[in-house]
Amino acid sequence: MAKKLRSLQTWERAQRLIPGGVNSPVRAFKSVGGTPIFIKHAQGSKIYDIDDNQYIDYVGSWGPLLLGHANSMVLSAISEVMQNGTSFGAPTELEVELADIVTSAVKSVDQIRMVNSGTEATMTAIRLARGYTKRNKVIKIEGCYHGHVDYLLVKAGSGLTTFGLPDSGGVPKEFAQHTLTVPFNDINAVHQVIEAHPDQIACLILEPVAGNMGVIPPKDGYLNELRRVTTEHGIVLIFDEVMTGFRVAYGGAQEIYGVDADLTCFGKIIGGGLPVGAYGGRKEIMQCVSPIGDVYQAGTLSGNPLAMAAGIATLKELSQPSTYAKLEETSNTLSDGIKHSAKKHNISSFHNRVGSMIICFFTDQEVIDYETAKTSDTEKFSKYFWGLLDQGIYIAPSQFEAGFVSLAHTEEDVENTIRAIDHVFSNL
Ligand SMILES: *Cc1c(COP(=O)(O)O)cnc(C)c1O
Repeated sequence: MAKKLRSLQTWERAQRLIPGGVNSPVRAFKSVGGTPIFIKHAQGSKIYDIDDNQYIDYVGSWGPLLLGHANSMVLSAISEVMQNGTSFGAPTELEVELADIVTSAVKSVDQIRMVNSGTEATMTAIRLARGYTKRNKVIKIEGCYHGHVDYLLVKAGSGLTTFGLPDSGGVPKEFAQHTLTVPFNDINAVHQVIEAHPDQIACLILEPVAGNMGVIPPKDGYLNELRRVTTEHGIVLIFDEVMTGFRVAYGGAQEIYGVDADLTCFGKIIGGGLPVGAYGGRKEIMQCVSPIGDVYQAGTLSGNPLAMAAGIATLKELSQPSTYAKLEETSNTLSDGIKHSAKKHNISSFHNRVGSMIICFFTDQEVIDYETAKTSDTEKFSKYFWGLLDQGIYIAPSQFEAGFVSLAHTEEDVENTIRAIDHVFSNL
C-alpha cells in the first residue's frame, strides 16, 4: 500500500475550503469510494503525488495531454510567449495561427472562434444554431456530455416526444423544455423526434464517438444518416469534438467517418493543457456571430496568448508523420492485452477502443448506448480502479470515463500496465 499521509491531510484541508474538496466533481473519487491523491508533478506518461508515489497515467488531465505531461516543446512555447506578457485583450498573431491550423485540419471548419472551455464552445454553438435557424429546439443524445450548460444537463423524458427533465439542481424545468433527448446509435428515434417537431429543431448535437459514457463508437452509417436527415430538415448538425478532436485522428472523428458537421466544438487537446475551447464551422453560419451578426459571444481571456502557444505547439507536434500510427499501435497493444487478460480470468467484460480512447465495461452485454453502458458492474469497476492505483496505474475514477493513451506511453508502460491489470483480474 502506497504512502498517503500528505494527500489525506490535504484532502481534509481541501474539504474545509472547497465544496467537496475539488474544483470539478469527478476528481473527488466519489463513484469509486475513498479519497483522491493530490498531484505534485508529472512528466511524460507518469504523474507523481505529494507523497512521492509514481503512477502511469491514463487520464491525461481528462484528455488534453495527447503528447503526455510536461512536453518540452509545449513548455518552451509557453515560456517563450510568456516573456511578452500574459494577456492583452487585443488581437494577437497567435490566435490567427491556431485558427489557421485547426481550419486546415478539419475541412468542414471554415472559420473558428476561440473560447476558454468546452462548455463555452457547446453553449455558444447551440446559441449560434438557434440564431441562424431562428428555431428553438435542440436534439441531444442520451449519455453524451457537452459540459455543464443548463439545458444540456438533461436526462431523457419518459417517451420520445416528451421533453427532457433537468438532471441537476438549479436548472428550471422550463430551461429544458426545448431539449429533446434520444438514445445514441438509434436513427429511428431521431426520425421520430424530427417528425414530431416540424420546423422547430435548430440543431442536433452529439459526440460522434461517445466518450463520456465509456467509449462507444457510432454504428456503421449512423453519422451519415444523421448528416442526411439534418440537411433535409434544415437542422444544424453539431459535432462535439471537444474530446475526439485531434485525438482519434488529426482531423477528428469527422476524418475517420467521412462525415462533415455544420458546426464543430473543440477543447482539450487544442489548448495543449491550458484552458481553451473553440467552435467553428461553415462560414455562412459563423458569420452570424457578433460583431458581424447578432449572436452575441465574448470573453475577456479568449484567445489567451499562453493558451494559444500551448495549442499551436501541441498541434504542430501532432501533425508530424506517423504520430497517429504510433498512437494506434500503442493503444491497440494495450486494449488487446486487457481483453486477453479478461478472457483468461473469465471476467464478464465488453471492450471498446477508438484510436487512443479505450474502455473495459464490466458487463456481458454489448454496449451501444447509455442504457447498455449502465448495465456495467460499477462495484467491480471500483475494485479494478483501486487495485490498479495500488500498483501504480492511474485511470479515471469512474466506469464511464474513457482511458486515454498518449504519445508518451512506452512499450514498457503498456507491458507494466497489462501485468498490473492481469494481477487485478486474477483477484476480481
Ligand atoms: C470535456 C468535454 C466537454 C466540456 O469541456 P470543459 O472544458 O470541461 O468545459 C464538452 N464536451 C465533451 C465531449 C467533453 O469531453
